Amino acid sequence: MKKIFITLLLLTGIMNLVACTNQKSAQTHKQIKVVSSLDFYAEPAAKILGQYGQVTSLINSASVDPHDYTATTNDAKITAKADVAIMNGAGYDAWLQKLVVSNNQQAKLVNVATDIRHLPDGENEHLWYDYANMIKVTQYLTTTFSKIKPAQKQIFARNSAVYIKQLKKLQAQENQLKTDFAGKSVMVTEPVFNYVLTNLGVKIVNENFAQDIDEGADPQPAELQKMTNQLKNRQVAFLVVNRQVESSLISQLIKTAKKAQVPIVYVTETMPKGKTYLTWMHDELQQLKKIAEGSNS
Ligand SMILES: [Zn+2]
Repeated sequence: MKKIFITLLLLTGIMNLVACTNQKSAQTHKQIKVVSSLDFYAEPAAKILGQYGQVTSLINSASVDPHDYTATTNDAKITAKADVAIMNGAGYDAWLQKLVVSNNQQAKLVNVATDIRHLPDGENEHLWYDYANMIKVTQYLTTTFSKIKPAQKQIFARNSAVYIKQLKKLQAQENQLKTDFAGKSVMVTEPVFNYVLTNLGVKIVNENFAQDIDEGADPQPAELQKMTNQLKNRQVAFLVVNRQVESSLISQLIKTAKKAQVPIVYVTETMPKGKTYLTWMHDELQQLKKIAEGSNS
């Protein structure tokens, strides 16, 4: 009987000890909680943090239009627990800033447009199409996370370098395309892809139309007529279409382009299902490569 008692005592002691160590390791391994409005900003955060972070993206579905998104109570709950909140800014996802202000003022809010891109008001808000900016986002997040968890600084720097190397591959891919397209005229149905186009050095022939579509305004009939003629006369190297915006007007433009054999580049506002930010961007640029090869042959 005595022997059993001692064993029990010993066991309880061991269990207490185990409980203590568990608590301690849970403390040191407490993950940095990150919330992002958009999945393509969640990706670098998750890559940098690895096991030291828990990253949640609030918009995950490719069928949601972030321009019209309304935050849910669940979004508020997740934001309330976050250490870091990442938003695009430039009027794109102001709802996340509101959630931080009303639920979690301790959270570090990262606004890509103002903190990283230093974007003037009224500029194109589709900042994730600017790969140089994505590199800066990754660097900024690395610094932010290292301040929260200085012990993991080395690991974050290593993870960050791996991701940046992949972003630089996108830049290289873009640079190669520049030799094919710089100076050429192109047409767009929307300004979503414009940062890539600017980097390619192409001339967008219908900026006003694209801006109207993006803002949900009716385009000018004269502008539309001019565009139809430009397509018919093959005065543009390609037409960029945002797959996620459907209207009879855009369908008509696609038809005209196809009939005149003007190549079409299909892009999306949000990350397609089954793709990562890197594969998404790579695949879109790949379409341009095919067009360049087609016109050279
Ligand atoms: Zn947009």
